[in-house]
Amino acid sequence: MSESASSLSVVRDVDSLRRRLKDWRSANQTIALVPTMGALHTGHMALVEHAKALADEVVVSIFVNPTQFGPDEDLAAYPRSDSEDWELLAAADVGLLYMPDASVMYPEHFQTDVKVIKVSQGLCGDHRPGHFDGVATVVTKLLLQALPDYAVFGEKDYQQLVVIKRLVADLDIPVDIVGLPTVRELDGLALSSRNAYLSEPERAIAPALYKELSAVASDISNGAESSERCAQAAEALLKAGFNTVEYVDARDAETLMPLTSHGKPARVLAAVTLGKARLIDNVPVL
Ligand code: AMP
Repeated sequence: MSESASSLSVVRDVDSLRRRLKDWRSANQTIALVPTMGALHTGHMALVEHAKALADEVVVSIFVNPTQFGPDEDLAAYPRSDSEDWELLAAADVGLLYMPDASVMYPEHFQTDVKVIKVSQGLCGDHRPGHFDGVATVVTKLLLQALPDYAVFGEKDYQQLVVIKRLVADLDIPVDIVGLPTVRELDGLALSSRNAYLSEPERAIAPALYKELSAVASDISNGAESSERCAQAAEALLKAGFNTVEYVDARDAETLMPLTSHGKPARVLAAVTLGKARLIDNVPVL
């Protein structure tokens, strides 16, 4: 698609973003924001489609946020596909793409950190020190820059979604946070930009993560003791060929605290590594 055939425009700084959003607001249009790190896939586009159904206008942000990557993580290697992303968003009839660079988000003298204390601890928080501070800070900035009516996120990054809901409530940011179910490949593997790191044999192993989590969720809902069942699942994942299992855990779906009683909504969450990829997934206990 040529740039002229589409109504998608790109802004790269906060003033231009706000000018464009002000025009929409003056025309009484509601706005939904879909924050991403690019390398867009069908999972991201499901968020975009939902955002279009929720609001009159949609702005998608693409920003590979350096502060949420640890020093030994994949910031430099993180997949980027700007022109394909542009094509996908234009074809989806998105109005605005916000692509700030790091100097816009973190100008000289930047020194503020948003830290959501409890729900950032445990699970991925234990394995990626500082990750959720980076996420909380950048999402707070994106929300305050755009002040959308809605912001749409995936349950794929379940702990991140809980962190964001908490910070929006705690900081009285006037936005509805909408969480959407994970979009999966036919074999169950959750779509992720990081799946691009998987070799063919690793790709064949990867769906075992979802299968195992689904089995754990079903066993817990049938009365299995959750920590014992999660420990068995971790063993099974290693046997299936994953290199490491960072955690498999069942938690309260709202607070992410350890499960104390049956009956409250629960979630089984896991993080594993497979070759160069770190994969996360989670499923509800129904
Ligand atoms: P990312 O670009 O990976 O930071 O993701 C941007 C947004 O897309 C986040 O809200 C993710 O939770 C969401 N997302 C990523 N993968 C999926 C998926 N497979 N299904 C639904 N949402 C997803």
